Amino acid sequence: MNRLTIDTCPLCDGSHIKHFITCTDFYASGEQFELFRCDDCSFTFTQGCPLESEIGKYYETPDYISHSDTKKGAMNFIYHYVRRHMLNKKAQLVLKETRLRSGKILDIGTGTGYFANAMQLRGWEVEAIEKNASARTFAKEHFLLDVKDERALNNFPSGSFDVITLWHVMEHLEHLGETWQRIFELLTDRGVLVVAVPNCASYDADKYAEHWAAYDVPRHLWHFTPATMQQWGAKHGFILAARHPMPFDAFYVSMLSEKYRGNSSSFFKGVAVGSLAWLSAQAKKERSSSMIYVFRKKR
Ligand SMILES: [Zn+2]
Repeated sequence: MNRLTIDTCPLCDGSHIKHFITCTDFYASGEQFELFRCDDCSFTFTQGCPLESEIGKYYETPDYISHSDTKKGAMNFIYHYVRRHMLNKKAQLVLKETRLRSGKILDIGTGTGYFANAMQLRGWEVEAIEKNASARTFAKEHFLLDVKDERALNNFPSGSFDVITLWHVMEHLEHLGETWQRIFELLTDRGVLVVAVPNCASYDADKYAEHWAAYDVPRHLWHFTPATMQQWGAKHGFILAARHPMPFDAFYVSMLSEKYRGNSSSFFKGVAVGSLAWLSAQAKKERSSSMIYVFRKKR
């Protein structure tokens, strides 16, 4: 297996990177992976990830909820309920941040296409990219979306989009720097970039440490905080214009983290911890389990 070894910090280019914690892939392989952290800027990443060309098998289990559409069990029921609520929230956020009623949007890592469809229904011109072939087929069959594979990113003309969205996608991308550069080119001058990622400085991340489900090794390579996300944007020509907490994520992440800890009543404990995490995010949004970041081009 070929692995990605990182010896300088991808954010600040410093060389003071150190072992931070060891996490287990509870979801698929049971293998252990090391998280490293930069001493200079505190950027955190998974060391020794399988390369993109070989990581496919780490996504293969029937539980992979982001791409599944089955309604099994209480956690999935809640997931589907929250998804409906969040789709609405996300669409409203795009309208508010772009100050447009309709426009041209690119959704990268669209999965089964629910968000892209929500924008299409609101009259937006939608392009969507997804590397998983069966997810693309689902989006085509259910929403008549012509979802393209990841190669399409290089084929759109510069300045094509009013908004580009990546909902819980950035943390998976091996070629993160190149992707941001491309996103910068694809946006119009007044274009808006919307990124949602887990927050490894959240209440639930602190509480669960190596059992925190959103470390999700080796599928998640990069582990952002509000500070490192802002710095990452600045490095690629963007200013951070707004941050929005996603406190609901704490419930799902806490239930899953309890399960990974071996708790047999993970549902109830997860709800309890999720509630505390939710309260913590109400007091201080930087503590939210996941965050939505809105970037604009620096002028
Ligand atoms: Zn660094």
